[in-house]
Amino acid sequence: MVEDLWPAALAEPWDAVGPVVGRRDSAVGTIHFAVDPVSEVVEEACAAGADLLITHHPLLLRGVTTVEAGTFKGEVVHRLIESGCALLTAHTNGDSAVGGVNDVLSEILGLQDAEPLHPAAEGLAEEGLGRIGTLPRGTTLGEFAATVFGILPAVAGGVRVAGDRDGFVQRVALCGGAGDSLLSAAREAEADVYITADLRHHPASEAREAVRGRRPYLIDVSHFASEWLWLPAAAQTLDRALADRGYDVEIAVSGINTDPWDFFVVGGP
Ligand SMILES: [Zn+2]
Repeated sequence: MVEDLWPAALAEPWDAVGPVVGRRDSAVGTIHFAVDPVSEVVEEACAAGADLLITHHPLLLRGVTTVEAGTFKGEVVHRLIESGCALLTAHTNGDSAVGGVNDVLSEILGLQDAEPLHPAAEGLAEEGLGRIGTLPRGTTLGEFAATVFGILPAVAGGVRVAGDRDGFVQRVALCGGAGDSLLSAAREAEADVYITADLRHHPASEAREAVRGRRPYLIDVSHFASEWLWLPAAAQTLDRALADRGYDVEIAVSGINTDPWDFFVVGGP
């Protein structure tokens, strides 16, 4: 079922998606959704009696040589197995899919005629990384950034903006999670503004230089927040798909903020 909604074929070649912990033939009555498979989330899922935890981010993306319980990843693996809770990842396949991370962001922002910024090599025309679309009405960068701030879950870092506060924006490019690889795609698509997360100094600086301070402007948001928005939609989609096939499964979404930053210091008195 998960494979129908978020096909593994849509995942990027470097990614690791699908089952991580558990047996494929185990019965599942309760599912828990979260962005990160961190210990607090795993505790939450196990305490809720979940049979399956679906996370956006992989637990074991890079190679490990041990899952001994003294390591934090090993402890997570042990806690899951000992609690009878499986773990499954829907990462870049969850980004690219129809109804995935980028579609949800695009819908919440009210973008019209949205299409992928980087279409999937294999798949439907609607599938791929990032989205580009148009706001029903143009606005200023400052107001639009406030809208973006308002729709995202609250995090310590807020949102950072590069560009003229009074500049006009209507054509919007976005990519949930770390999207600096699509900076040039946003420019080539003639976006007025590009929303993504984890923008580092050099890619951001060079993107601003390349357009001489003009559009696309940049809005840098919390990685966690940009992807959390997908969870309620994904839970609802999976719930409906399972109900259509006659399965009665309880699905919950984690309320834990797994953005790693705790507070933010700004200048001034
Ligand atoms: Zn991510």
